[in-house]
Amino acid sequence: MSIIGITARQIFDSRGTPTVEVDVTTKLGVFRASVPSGISTGIYEAHELRDGEEAYLGKGVQKAVRNVNHVLGLKLMGMQPVRQHDIDETMIKLDGTENKKKYGANAILGISLALSKAGARELNLPLYTYYAELAGNMNTQTFELPVPAFNVINGGAHADNSLAFQEFMIMPIGASSFSEAMRMGTETYQHLKVIIKKKYGGGATNVGDEGGFAPNLKSAEEGLDLLVSAIEKAGYTGKVKIAIDAAASEFYENGKYNLDWKIPGSSGKLLSSSELASVYEEYVNKYPIVSIEDPFSQDDWEAYEGFCSKLGKKIQIVGDDLLVTNTNRISEAVRRKACNALLLKVNQIGTISEAIAAAKMAAENHWTVMMSHRSGETEDTTIADLAVGIGTNQIKAGSLARSERLAKYNQLLRIEEELGQNAKYAGPSFPYQ
Ligand code: PEP
Ligand code: MG
Repeated sequence: MSIIGITARQIFDSRGTPTVEVDVTTKLGVFRASVPSGISTGIYEAHELRDGEEAYLGKGVQKAVRNVNHVLGLKLMGMQPVRQHDIDETMIKLDGTENKKKYGANAILGISLALSKAGARELNLPLYTYYAELAGNMNTQTFELPVPAFNVINGGAHADNSLAFQEFMIMPIGASSFSEAMRMGTETYQHLKVIIKKKYGGGATNVGDEGGFAPNLKSAEEGLDLLVSAIEKAGYTGKVKIAIDAAASEFYENGKYNLDWKIPGSSGKLLSSSELASVYEEYVNKYPIVSIEDPFSQDDWEAYEGFCSKLGKKIQIVGDDLLVTNTNRISEAVRRKACNALLLKVNQIGTISEAIAAAKMAAENHWTVMMSHRSGETEDTTIADLAVGIGTNQIKAGSLARSERLAKYNQLLRIEEELGQNAKYAGPSFPYQ
């Protein structure tokens, strides 16, 4: 079967911001995917093409839509949908720029994602099995189900509160299955809601962009204390651990980290890299933290190196803005021993093939990999299948509220059910317990 149609349209993401949706048509049907969008984006990410016109405050994506409908789509017509790597490569070459600036990573990724669904159908494979084959995994019978990292307290650029760090996540490492992890996560989330309401009042349980609560906390410690209480109240102490995404590029100013960056009128609490590293170390010693993402800004390599040599055996140090799912930056980080885990975001790089290559490079270097959504999401659940297929042992898809977040976790529940005995939960083998 060959591709007989590729059409894009503008739809809207979870923040009401325009994004690209693509339909790839073969004789077997119409295969659809949509593209997510971040807000605390790294400066080295692939280019998200926006119209920059009056409509939608500059954020329309009609140019990217036209690039699919009138350029890329036409070039790919008649090709075999199972030729994922060739087609991704063709789009990269047609674009010809370093960061997909010509046609837009959002245009290219929309096609790449929808194409993979057409390819899976062509071979009559579940999507996750197809991704396992694309990744060259030998074992396509048994699969690991990822440990979810639920972002239950939102701060940083994702919430209108004073919290400097962006994400406070809970990870049910001690569960025995993905569905049990969902039970632990949802119960802890409900207890957290009651605790926050009691302490800060009703308004404090309003949620941020990723469905986590956004109480007006003054410090990270206040947030960590809330998580510890909720985990305890739910009865999961020792089983549910904590992960942070500091998203530190957002509060890096002139060589210092400003932990008061969201407090209006504050002259700022400015820390050097090593002072900030000491703050993290203190938290790691005091709280059950197993993972810290983007502890430093995207070009603060020395800070990463020092931190990783000190804490890299004890906790997971995840590169998001640092690595941007880009093999050039991953190999630099491997050479420098700057971190020990990759955050895998498909739209940071722009094709399925390049995302798989990034995950493989990380795994070959004995890093862990966390599959990730973006803060602006749609109902598309492809990353759930990608996490299982590639075998990333973790996924973060936001909190336990808002359907664009739950859609991914719900898809993982379906995959676990379908796999039955062939599903193995990644919690027990998570290296940082
Ligand atoms: C993140 O920083 O990990 C994240 C998901 O946020 P965003 O999509 O805004 O970059
Ligand atoms: Mg991040």
